[in-house]
Amino acid sequence: MDDLKSHLEFFSELGVDGVRREPQWRKRSIEPAEPSEPVQFYPSAEALTAIREDLGDCTRCKLHTLGRKQIVFGVGNLNADLMFVGEAPGADEDIQGEPFVGRAGQLLTKIIESIGLRRDDVYIANVIKCRPPGNRNPEPDEVEQCEPFLFRQIASIKPKVIVALGKFAAQSLLRTTDPITRLRGREYKFRDAILMPTYHPAYLLRTPSAKREVWEDMKRVRTLLSER
Ligand code: URA
Repeated sequence: MDDLKSHLEFFSELGVDGVRREPQWRKRSIEPAEPSEPVQFYPSAEALTAIREDLGDCTRCKLHTLGRKQIVFGVGNLNADLMFVGEAPGADEDIQGEPFVGRAGQLLTKIIESIGLRRDDVYIANVIKCRPPGNRNPEPDEVEQCEPFLFRQIASIKPKVIVALGKFAAQSLLRTTDPITRLRGREYKFRDAILMPTYHPAYLLRTPSAKREVWEDMKRVRTLLSER
């Protein structure tokens, strides 16, 4: 009962104020693979290991001299259909070596679960792999050095849908200076994937009323995943 209560509270936090009764909305998650399906061999693990090795103990930009504790490469299912891209690690991520583990990360986990997936089902990475000092915005030379590694991650994971979290990720991936308010709510082709910009979970912590729009975006993501 407590579980149900907290589940409903979370949905209400996300701005969901009702339920749909049509049968298609009953399906909470993407169908699991049939047990009889042959086990497939996926080369993504090897490709990602190679990308991580190429990144090494990176000194390509000045961030390695500005107090980063470690490189935060990415985490999750190497064959994910859904990938989230954020901006750069913050203090918690820098300590733990994993993207989105702080307060914004906890909200991201809830957002993922709101469409019936687990955090382990998706892949999460950032445009920048090292923490900028004081959480300042990444600078163009840092993006230029780091972004190719994100592109290689995307190319080996081959997600069907990429959710760009916040202005910085959306603008970097789409090569635009359009504001996030204009970018979100639309779908873009990004190589073989569909890219959906949405608000950053850190913004949602400051502006809870924007959760409603993120919920709309996530419902669309769920539909795209079930269609493709
Ligand atoms: N914000 C981001 O953009 N990425 C993280 O990993 C954490 C917070």
